[in-house]
Amino acid sequence: MPKDFLKGCQDFYDVVVIGAGLAGLTAANILGRAGHKVLLLEQHYKLGGLATWFRRPKSHIFDISLHGFPYGMIKSCRRYWSEEIANSIVQLEKIRFDNPMFSLTTTFNRDDFTRLLTSQFGVPAESVKSFFETARGMNFFDDQSMTTGELFEKFFPGREDVVRLLMEPITYANGSTLEDPAITYGIVFSNFMAKGVFIYEGGTDDLVGKMGAELKRNGVDCRINCDVEKIEVDRNGVQAVVVNGRRIGCGTVVSNSNLKATIFNLVGEDKFDRGFVDQAREVRLNNSSTQVYMGLKEGCTIEESTGDLLFSSTAPLFRTEALLSRDITSRTFSFYYPRTRPDGKQQFAVVSSTNANYSDWANLSEQDYNESKQDLIDTTLDALEKYVPGIHDMIDTVDAATPNTFQHYTKHLSGASFGTKFEGLGVSRALPEQIPGLYHAGSVGIIMSGWLGAINYGVIVANDVDQQLMKKGRSGAAGSATPATSN
Ligand SMILES: Cc1cc2nc3c(=O)[nH]c(=O)nc-3n(C[C@H](O)[C@H](O)[C@H](O)COP(=O)(O)OP(=O)(O)OC[C@H]3O[C@@H](n4cnc5c(N)ncnc54)[C@H](O)[C@@H]3O)c2cc1C
Repeated sequence: MPKDFLKGCQDFYDVVVIGAGLAGLTAANILGRAGHKVLLLEQHYKLGGLATWFRRPKSHIFDISLHGFPYGMIKSCRRYWSEEIANSIVQLEKIRFDNPMFSLTTTFNRDDFTRLLTSQFGVPAESVKSFFETARGMNFFDDQSMTTGELFEKFFPGREDVVRLLMEPITYANGSTLEDPAITYGIVFSNFMAKGVFIYEGGTDDLVGKMGAELKRNGVDCRINCDVEKIEVDRNGVQAVVVNGRRIGCGTVVSNSNLKATIFNLVGEDKFDRGFVDQAREVRLNNSSTQVYMGLKEGCTIEESTGDLLFSSTAPLFRTEALLSRDITSRTFSFYYPRTRPDGKQQFAVVSSTNANYSDWANLSEQDYNESKQDLIDTTLDALEKYVPGIHDMIDTVDAATPNTFQHYTKHLSGASFGTKFEGLGVSRALPEQIPGLYHAGSVGIIMSGWLGAINYGVIVANDVDQQLMKKGRSGAAGSATPATSN
């Protein structure tokens, strides 16, 4: 008989959270901590969503999305997770760029970028200062008509090299383009520039393990291998979810599943106003990614001077289309030294990431798909040879992920790596006005994606849900979920 992953589940919860990505995990933790009865349902066999890892023989562990996030993660993790998690966040000190326009190493913060822009790029100090101040002053309620491209043109007219330095890492970090609203760039860029780029020491497996333990401590009922098929709603709002063939009643759902999948697959468009459905249909998905994971043989090492994160490109100019092209010219290499997992085996690994179009991978025959994957691996190793000479002979494990892989493991439509484009945020926020008790927390709108964006969006939505539950007096919770949501 197949295992019953819902064994022991109750028939009713105050809140059901669908999906254990960082936003879903965080919302569940805050609501559980506040005393609400919370059920967290994840379709995959482990928690974390895109913040995940996998193992390969010879003790190799590869992280999928542990490449870098802003300093703000420390504060968010301390407040909404634990001191222990916050204390494991460390800075990456060597961020490198190598492309036909420039090669440099930076700590990727405002002071160092000011130094580079004024000395190496020859930009007047006054322009640099006012650019940083403008970017830092941007917020969600600002005018959204100016594009990132226009913002750059205003401060650095005709300077494609400067645009490349400022934009290439952010495009990699959240898939945003020069055509997106400038605020999506300004907010994310300023978050990084505050202090630099950080990662979690111990690896994603350690982080997610600690999050799982914290959820348990806070009374959240966590279930894996539980694929939610339907959110049942009627004119009074959310009533239940259907999962693994069972109906579980609830007054509130927080969906961490892809926004469009939530609306069109889990609820159904007939349950929403016509205008809202039209608006939701217009929401564009963000792009997807490919990755190549390379594990080094025991005893093989990489010099620390190689850097932590390397934005490499052979394209003569910075162009968004080139970053997405199947003919890859830009790769971001993450180098994992033994210090990434200080308690683990002393191993080195490299992960290469590239933004990608789902359409380039989705409809290939099995043979073409496998050949394309092999080509991705071969060309990546060739490109890495420049930075780690002899890499072909140093690795004993190599594998690759494509947009199909991301779609398969997270159910993100078209394998979207960063949820939806900017317009997704308004649609996500409007869900409870359409259906009482229906919320969405997860990568939307560029700002609310990435590790920090997803966690913070989980906080914001948990706060909304807590207020709604307290107002209804439905749950036996003791108090407010979150003292504050701003970060
Ligand atoms: C290759 C790559 C590299 C990245 N690198 C970085 C980086 O360096 N720094 C950074 O900050 N961000 C990075 N990101 C982005 C970051 O990982 C994501 O933005 C973030 O983890 C998304 O969190 P989320 O809460 O939106 O949920 P997701 O991680 O998207 O998780 C959603 C969860 O919902 C589950 N689910 C979906 N449907 C159902 C259902 N019907 N029933 C049950 N469960 C369901 C899925 O299985 C999944 O676990 C990267 C992303 C990719 C793809």
